[in-house]
Amino acid sequence: MLTNEIDLSLLSGAQKRLEIAETVVLPPFGGLDFAEPVSVALVIERSAETIMIVGTAQIEAQGVCNRCLGTFAVSSVYDVEESFTTGPDADPFGEGNVVQNDRLDLSDLIRQVVDAALPLVLLCNEDCAGLCATCGKNLNEGTCECGDRTKGDHG
Ligand SMILES: [Zn+2]
Ligand SMILES: [Zn+2]
Repeated sequence: MLTNEIDLSLLSGAQKRLEIAETVVLPPFGGLDFAEPVSVALVIERSAETIMIVGTAQIEAQGVCNRCLGTFAVSSVYDVEESFTTGPDADPFGEGNVVQNDRLDLSDLIRQVVDAALPLVLLCNEDCAGLCATCGKNLNEGTCECGDRTKGDHG
């Protein structure tokens, strides 16, 4: 399984704080293909009925451009800042569902963080010229013989 689980019951005793430096394998999603495991550095702190998770996730992935379908490297660091309620009233199907039975699913958490940070439309470049609607040529690599470059103005 592609999960990294953290046992949060470790935080129920005297120790309320856990530092994690892990690599997490993520399945492809949202147009990203993770060539490398995600480097995750987190501090997990537990108070009465709340778990706070703060840190960073560094991804090295291959993205697929929405416009030209080309692949490009995505190298980014995302801030992680999440808190979960763990008390008896916590909704297991709510937003805190990456925590279940005192186990934190690290890959699920990171997937959600990256997913939320991703732009709605992945582009290899803001000025990506896309594909020719007529012949399908990648116009970033040069013009095609259809002549008319239908490059929309942006801004
Ligand atoms: Zn593109
Ligand atoms: Zn063309």
